[in-house]
Amino acid sequence: SSIFASVELAPRDPILGLNEQFKADTRPTKVNLGVGVYYDDAGRIPLLKAVRQAEARLFEQAEPRNYLPIDGIPGYNNGARALLLGAGSPLIAEHRSLTVQTLGGTGALKVGADFLKQILPNAQVAISNPSWANHQALFAAAGFPVVSYDYYDAATHGLNFDGMLASLRALPAGTIVVLHACCHNPTGVDPTLEQWQDIARTLQAGQLVPFLDIAYQGFGAGIEEDAAVVRLFADLGMTMFISSSFSKSFSLYGERVGALTLVTGGDEESTRVLSQLKRVIRTNYSNPPTHGGALVSTVLNTPELYALWAEELAGMRDRIRAMRHQLVEKIQAQGVSQDFSFVKAQRGMFSYSGLTKDQVERLREEFGIYAVGSGRICVAALNSGNIDYVAEAIARVIK
Ligand code: PLP
Repeated sequence: SSIFASVELAPRDPILGLNEQFKADTRPTKVNLGVGVYYDDAGRIPLLKAVRQAEARLFEQAEPRNYLPIDGIPGYNNGARALLLGAGSPLIAEHRSLTVQTLGGTGALKVGADFLKQILPNAQVAISNPSWANHQALFAAAGFPVVSYDYYDAATHGLNFDGMLASLRALPAGTIVVLHACCHNPTGVDPTLEQWQDIARTLQAGQLVPFLDIAYQGFGAGIEEDAAVVRLFADLGMTMFISSSFSKSFSLYGERVGALTLVTGGDEESTRVLSQLKRVIRTNYSNPPTHGGALVSTVLNTPELYALWAEELAGMRDRIRAMRHQLVEKIQAQGVSQDFSFVKAQRGMFSYSGLTKDQVERLREEFGIYAVGSGRICVAALNSGNIDYVAEAIARVIK
């Protein structure tokens, strides 16, 4: 008999399942708000000019594809770390931090989780309620019990700050706390910097281990501004894990460009830690791929390409913000009394719209508008061609 005879069918990924349903929908007016990807106003995934120019340079100076070092391209790692900590950070000068190139932000979380399992084998992991679905699955797969801390308040469409602090205070010392450093997925709700101060101090007082996940740097207030939370934790002298991703900010989803950055206790510690991280990587996938890393490294280390990238990223950020404002105004213009203004205050690609499961279902069945059952919509999938239709449909299902 087959060794696979007793293998059970795994449940379908709910968001990928939604995409399949969307593809099969033949209505020409259909809109997919279930995705986690930025689309431009023409409804396309952009190929950034900065990336195209970097690619042209790489093509001209074509190099053989040797293996990269286990920890990746040095210029990539330095560039990624400078974006997070600030180029002039003493954590860089004093070698109190290190960065390894990873297969996307997911790869950074996975390498970090596997390393944490070695150094804190009995710890648990706490994630926000709600969180990106893969947080729970990934840390559980790495062998950790996963609990959640209070985060979202459905009544106010905002942060349950007191609840969040209370649940963080209740966690045992040594708990690994995964925090979305900006543009929370799925809610779009971020703490203020003042609230982050309290959150960081709570983690410090409770001897909790921060794991900052930043997959949307540049989509909140700006590239530097969005790193403020990372720098706030760093300024408190805390050791921490940071997973970052260029998937969205460079529109390079399929290139798997991410980074894991660790802030350590000092120079010699960094050397020991890096040697162990390399072992985790070596036994997982040996070393990262070349092309996407070379593209990002070229952009980050070429001033004119960096400036162009920053401008294009600002363009994506501004377009999302414009869509938030227009959506709220257009829903109101339909004579809806329900207040949607909270959508304007949310940040990043996503919005917890407050739509119920039934309303989400009606949007899909009656209008061919696809959203996640939780009411999460991807604001970055709205554009001037579909926003009137979406606003009208939302108004219809909530009336
Ligand atoms: N973390 C969060 C919160 C995300 O939303 C995502 C992507 O959706 C990731 C990490 C992983 O990104 P990547 O595609 O680079 O693996």
